[in-house]
Amino acid sequence: MEKSKVSLTLQSNSFVLALNVENIRAEFPILSTKVGKYPLVYFDNGATSEKPAVVIDRISKYYEQENANIHRGVHHLSQISTENYELARESVRAFIGAEHLHEIIYTSGTTEGINLVAHCYGELLNEGDEILITEMEHHSNIVPWQMLAERKGIVLKYIPLLKSGELDFTQLDSLLTDKTKLVSITHISNSLGTINPIKDVIEKSHAVGAKVLIDAAQSLQHMKVDVKELDCDFLVFSGHKVFGPTGVGVLFGKEEILNSMPPYKGGGDMIKTVSMEKTVYNELPHKFEAGTPNIVGGIALGTAIDWLSSLNYEDIQQYEHELLEYGTQELMKIEGVTIYGTAEKKSSILSFLINGLHPYDIGTLLNQQGVAVRTGHHCTQPIMDYFGIPGTIRASFSFYNTKEEIDIFISALKKAIQMLG
Ligand code: PMP
Repeated sequence: MEKSKVSLTLQSNSFVLALNVENIRAEFPILSTKVGKYPLVYFDNGATSEKPAVVIDRISKYYEQENANIHRGVHHLSQISTENYELARESVRAFIGAEHLHEIIYTSGTTEGINLVAHCYGELLNEGDEILITEMEHHSNIVPWQMLAERKGIVLKYIPLLKSGELDFTQLDSLLTDKTKLVSITHISNSLGTINPIKDVIEKSHAVGAKVLIDAAQSLQHMKVDVKELDCDFLVFSGHKVFGPTGVGVLFGKEEILNSMPPYKGGGDMIKTVSMEKTVYNELPHKFEAGTPNIVGGIALGTAIDWLSSLNYEDIQQYEHELLEYGTQELMKIEGVTIYGTAEKKSSILSFLINGLHPYDIGTLLNQQGVAVRTGHHCTQPIMDYFGIPGTIRASFSFYNTKEEIDIFISALKKAIQMLG
């Protein structure tokens, strides 16, 4: 029988838990493992989430009972695999509120989704057209546009960053022109935790005729996102950050725009007919899905999304906010701490430095006490340049983390500072 993930509101050390965190933790085998003699404290959720047993089991079941190549197979296993792969696509569609199933394109992840749009939508653009991104983007939402700009003579503009870790949206109106063809922006900053007002950005961008791509790599694991309500033109995310496997992700695109774009990669599945003279491309979504895809990845992503959908996003957000508040409060008690990213609307990411200490040294000493954090530039070097720092220590929380783990992290941090001091 499935364990209940939602309990009656219960009081635990001043935390109001609408989520039954203990039951949720029990679903993640890795959370009860150790690093040496220390229990694992996993605070690297911004990089990838851990996986619940249902997802792990789904992968095993696929290889034990269902493995076959999909589409066009007449045999039993191929039909089952195809059906489950397409059912998972439907889970994704419902999860993000897309109107049509064929607007859901499987990719290998956020990076591939953005590259696909840069390449294919980019083919429709002309010299002098403008693309607007921001100074807080992950490299995967900068480099593909720089490559496109170089290839096609497109002008790349940036919404500037502010010290608070928010973007300076007072500049938006003047940055958007009738030449702006696309605005590509992250929903949540992976380095600073800032939650961007994307609905507003979409409305303003549409007013000048620009399309909008939302990088949702850091948002779907924390909050409800509905592409129809947002009215975004593209949205990308990675399976591995939403409790699914690596190597699979999703590009949502509005039907009309996807249809207007040329295909990405050529090969099997993306064609209707091929002769020596000419190829007729397949319809959506297959037009953008050349070759044998990550079949088990897609299926297990569907399982992860179904699992996540069984939780209540409001509960998740409230609980993660409490973790963030508590972590921030405890971290600020430590002398010499600077927190980077103090936006009013913030996700559960704590990026910080400690006076004079190298993030890598801190990360290494935390690891020696079982605490997993990320150190470095987090693939956002322009953010680090803006703050004049080489990188930060980043603790990123998920709803399976606890206040007790934050206590362990803080005391491990104090020990690390003492050892380095
Ligand atoms: N955008 C953001 C905001 C991210 O956090 C990440 C992953 N750190 C990416 C893009 C790239 O995701 P992936 O490596 O899964 O393609």
